[in-house]
Amino acid sequence: MFSFDNSYARLPQTFHRPARPAAASAPKLIRFNKDLADELGLDVADADEARLAQVFGGQVIPVGAEPLAQAYAGHQFGHFNPQLGDGRALLLGEVIDREGRRRDIQLKGSGPTAFSRNGDGMAALGPVLREYIVSEAFAALGVPATRALAAVETGEQVVRETMLPGAVFTRVASSHIRVGTFQFFAAQGDEEAVKTLADHVIDRHYPEARNATNPYLAMLTAVAERQARLIARWLSIGFIHGVMNTDNMAISGETIDFGPCAFLDEYDPRKVFSSIDQRGRYAYANQPGIGQWNIARLAECLLPLLDEAEEKAIEAANGVLKAFGDVFQEAWLDLFKAKLGVSGEGADDRQLVSDFLELMHQGEADFTLTFRTLSKVAGGAAVETLIDLFQVPPPGLSDWLTRWRARIGDDRTPAERQAAMEAVNPALIARNHRIEEAIAAAIYGDYSFFHRLVDALATPYVEDPETADLRVPPTPDQRVTRTFC
Ligand code: AMP
Ligand code: MG
Ligand code: MG
Repeated sequence: MFSFDNSYARLPQTFHRPARPAAASAPKLIRFNKDLADELGLDVADADEARLAQVFGGQVIPVGAEPLAQAYAGHQFGHFNPQLGDGRALLLGEVIDREGRRRDIQLKGSGPTAFSRNGDGMAALGPVLREYIVSEAFAALGVPATRALAAVETGEQVVRETMLPGAVFTRVASSHIRVGTFQFFAAQGDEEAVKTLADHVIDRHYPEARNATNPYLAMLTAVAERQARLIARWLSIGFIHGVMNTDNMAISGETIDFGPCAFLDEYDPRKVFSSIDQRGRYAYANQPGIGQWNIARLAECLLPLLDEAEEKAIEAANGVLKAFGDVFQEAWLDLFKAKLGVSGEGADDRQLVSDFLELMHQGEADFTLTFRTLSKVAGGAAVETLIDLFQVPPPGLSDWLTRWRARIGDDRTPAERQAAMEAVNPALIARNHRIEEAIAAAIYGDYSFFHRLVDALATPYVEDPETADLRVPPTPDQRVTRTFC
């Protein structure tokens, strides 16, 4: 089924431990991503649902797989844990996809490993479905992220607050190497392993860094820039990751670990959904600062490789942190200007964007619908359709609209401007209350809404009348305020 080429398994033994999936009494396929399987070049022509459930439920180890759990450490909510690792996941192996890119195939929720500590190694159905829905929504939005290849019910019960059905999620990533992977070796003072890992990362993700005067500095800079751009993309779609621990930040620049994540409904920069983020460390607007903090932790691991003289190494690292801030600011402004339909350079553009966000905050306007509706207003729709989205239309909104109209004038027609804005302002996001609805029905064995939601999210920029109900913000009693992983 797979043509594996397992480069991570060939790294030294300290990088990983062998792992075996646990028995699942009744594996049943929930969903299989045929398009992604094709992209990966998997040979599944002869595989029926039962066979897919066996493979992606961990009951049949495919030929060529070398299942292993990866070692890593990490700062969790600011506190360093020197020993985390894949406690409920295992890497089956790596394939080279049709475009020549190396991709990890990982089972998540397939039972305990050497790194499980007190955990059971299992995943409950709900988080598996949430990760499936949100990672595929990201793919359709064009935001870098891990992908969903399959979801399988195991037939086992897992113990959480209550007993829940167990499931296994198959995740595809360009790699699962994290900031925390570097921290694992750096914390042990194993400079040799840090260098081995950095060389592996350069070969795999940043080959152009090899030609730089200092390849490790070039790699660190490239990681920082990709993360800065990624987090700007999150903010542009109203996304809150929820657990930006250093073990959940991928070196590749892909979004990873869709745990208690959520999309904003009404705009609030201090918004937090995650039930485990009690102090709001990972609130919406904190994400760029946390991203930079995480990159600082990565830089610390790499200091010995940046320069022999410690002072010079620190200076280089500080340069990278500054670059992170600059790249983020520029990417954020470009994205939000495009969301407003603003082209070219204007001295007050940053102010125009932040004033609009402030008005949305004051008026508790729905983030997604507001930008989508503004696109229509740019195309000639009545301004009342926009004003109606504000719970209380804030004073200052009509002044802002006047400034905006004056600024967006260029040689595009209104229809062209609307089309350009609609291409960057999604109509449909994976709203929390809909995800919860899909999970609630699935727990009772009904996957129809889950499938409908995943299918609809494949075209987030299209206003299909059939999916109109999925675009509506929650009513007060539908509102989900907390998410769990
Ligand atoms: P996460 O919050 O998903 O990023 O996980 C943080 C760490 O806890 C990782 O090392 C996971 O492998 C581990 N972990 C999370 N849930 C479980 C579980 N049910 N069993 C074992 N390890 C777990
Ligand atoms: Mg994690
Ligand atoms: Mg998680």
